[in-house]
Amino acid sequence: CGIVGYVGNAPAAGSADSHQHSALDVLIEGLRRLEYRGYDSAGVAVLTDQGIESRKKAGKLANLEAELEASPLPVAYTGIGHTRWATHGGPTDRNAHPHVVDGGSLALIHNGIIENFAEHKAALEADGVEFVSETDTEVAAALLAKVYDTESEGDLTRAMQLTSQRLEGAFTLLAIHKDHPGVVVASRRNSPLVIGLGEGENFLGSDVSGFIDFTKRAVELAQDQVVTITPESFEITDFFGSPAQGKEFTVDWDA
Ligand code: GLU
Repeated sequence: CGIVGYVGNAPAAGSADSHQHSALDVLIEGLRRLEYRGYDSAGVAVLTDQGIESRKKAGKLANLEAELEASPLPVAYTGIGHTRWATHGGPTDRNAHPHVVDGGSLALIHNGIIENFAEHKAALEADGVEFVSETDTEVAAALLAKVYDTESEGDLTRAMQLTSQRLEGAFTLLAIHKDHPGVVVASRRNSPLVIGLGEGENFLGSDVSGFIDFTKRAVELAQDQVVTITPESFEITDFFGSPAQGKEFTVDWDA
């Protein structure tokens, strides 16, 4: 339902630069701004040199915040956050996003509906993949992990392009991978996705509310595009890897 992604740089040792944000601060603030859309669960995942860690909870954002207080995440500068409006599988902790798969290698969040999830699920199960939720989203996560492991030669953007070609329906997908610190890769088909441009940090949102507290410079993606963000760059392609352009604009309302 609501999506936020963030990549930034760790502050230099000893610096008191107030411009720096931690991923978690950005994600929670963005999810709060996106609450107006309605949701039934919320979750975040962050990436550090130690790998991916995730917390997710059914119910209000306050439930997630209580969980984060009880079980804090490490300070991180790469992360994704989601508020869910359940379509496949009830609103439980387990069905909440992010879905962390492949032995903790990859975390993915999703807005929308994957129409052909059942056929992919059957093929992945035949291949030995075990699913822990009832969501269409976990199937997209498992497919992306498999394509990454077997077809991409370690290229996360390429894996997202190939996976997106094979998914039908409506989706905005964001993923992080333990082998790619400082990277969030995303994709959209029949569902919105906007990039927020910062200095030494970049953002993704299902709409500009996801990052409006941090930047007013935005780039709207067109249909069937993939984007890869790092703290210093963003790169847009179509699902077949050809370079593509987004539409840059300035958000002209005050937060
Ligand atoms: N279809 C997905 C699910 O039920 C995503 C729903 C959403 O857009 O929040 O988990």
